[in-house]
Amino acid sequence: MTARLPLVDLHRHLEGSIRTSTVLDIAERTGHELAKRPAPRTALVAAQEKTGLLPYLDKVDIAIGVLAELDDWHRAAGEAIDDAFDDGLDCLELRYCPGIIAHETGLAAEAVIDAVADAVAERSKKRELPVGLIGIVVRHLGAESAEQQMSTLLSRKESFCAVDLAGDEANFPAQLFEEAFARARDAGLHVTIHAGEAAGPGSVWDAVNHLGAERIGHGVRAAEDARLMEHLAAHDITLEVSLTSNTQTGAAPSYANHQIHQLLKAGVPVSLNTDNPRVSNVRLSQEHRTAITEVGLREDQLATVAQQSVAAAFNN
Ligand SMILES: [Zn+2]
Repeated sequence: MTARLPLVDLHRHLEGSIRTSTVLDIAERTGHELAKRPAPRTALVAAQEKTGLLPYLDKVDIAIGVLAELDDWHRAAGEAIDDAFDDGLDCLELRYCPGIIAHETGLAAEAVIDAVADAVAERSKKRELPVGLIGIVVRHLGAESAEQQMSTLLSRKESFCAVDLAGDEANFPAQLFEEAFARARDAGLHVTIHAGEAAGPGSVWDAVNHLGAERIGHGVRAAEDARLMEHLAAHDITLEVSLTSNTQTGAAPSYANHQIHQLLKAGVPVSLNTDNPRVSNVRLSQEHRTAITEVGLREDQLATVAQQSVAAAFNN
């Protein structure tokens, strides 16, 4: 019998973790139009076959506008910790974007941060599950907004172990956000950057060179650039790979042809993550099994990946 591997999720979005039942319960309460649709679940959960990046992100985003009250965010964050505990996780890093939540709901971003931090502190203590929170800045509201979003995160910097950049990587390159991320590093926060998912290896180079990324969200397209893979391996920059999400968004061609094979061969540190448990309809324990049965990793490769996930955690 093989020893149980550590279950560490470094890349999980709160917005994509909110249970379908909770979104629909709140939609029912508030009279949100989602509750009146004949098949609301299809708006919240991706099909197993290729969904495409933008339709996939729509399924993440639609839940945000439904959670209109701070109590809803408190509930969603608490349930996300319960779900991670129920799946047997040893450590979780949960990320979310207070700026987008504020934008969609009209709530104050600072109040959302406090509500989420409060729920996470209470529930992670009860569950004895270490949880680190990562604050996201989005690219597509532009550089000026990013400065404001970062100022908001830094005003609550004790609530976060790291910051992240997400959104439209093809049209809003890393260079626009250099200032904002320099401030985060100066404040002592770790940096992970979504890159190499919707744009090519150049976007990963930019995240490393301009923003000081210590980890890369997804980053699977780094496999197109041998010199980049060498650089990531030499500098111990871990990629946060998500087998099912990458396949659904089209970042990876399929499970069997997932870039994780080339990345591991090149010695790039790789972690396995869920990205959005509700939208992708996955659990981390299940992704570990998928790595063997569908992707075709060997047991020893999966053990290496699990250890790399532990080593790359920011909140350890
Ligand atoms: Zn992500």
